[in-house]
Amino acid sequence: MHQLKPCVFLDRDGIVNKPPVGRYIERPEDFEILPEFLEALRLICERGYEAVIVTNQKGVSTGQVKPAALMEMHRVLIETVLRHNLRLLDIRISTTADDAHPDRKPNPGLLLTAAHEYGLDLHRSWMIGDNVRDIEAGRRAGCRTVFVGTDAPDTANHQVPNMSALVKFLRQHLDFV
Ligand SMILES: [Mg+2]
Repeated sequence: MHQLKPCVFLDRDGIVNKPPVGRYIERPEDFEILPEFLEALRLICERGYEAVIVTNQKGVSTGQVKPAALMEMHRVLIETVLRHNLRLLDIRISTTADDAHPDRKPNPGLLLTAAHEYGLDLHRSWMIGDNVRDIEAGRRAGCRTVFVGTDAPDTANHQVPNMSALVKFLRQHLDFV
């Protein structure tokens, strides 16, 4: 029988890499992967979860971020993940500027389509992000949510102050599957 797998969905900017100084990370050389992300991903993999990055990159549709630059950032990310013997199932990107688009967080489309495509169990899955949009997308998809930062929305199931605290949190709260 086919068994649905739980997943940890992760926002990108501020979770995977240092957040942009301006609105967007436009240049691949400014894409700086956080060591705490790699630690968190190691735990996620060790505990038996899939990991999927879900990111709004509206800057692509406004022309501020070149698609080739975005591809290069994600190539570096995948290469780094592989070099650390870790596993990332997918990077799902919403490039639209349309807030009504189902894929643009806080809408849950990126999570729902990934779940459909890969057979993920959303109710045993987590969404981790540093913006209210991430928490809302996770909530609407039926996932448990963790807000990374100091001004968590009431709707977040959990809050940790920073990425180091997230690693500790996951060590304590992520069940083995
Ligand atoms: Mg973010």
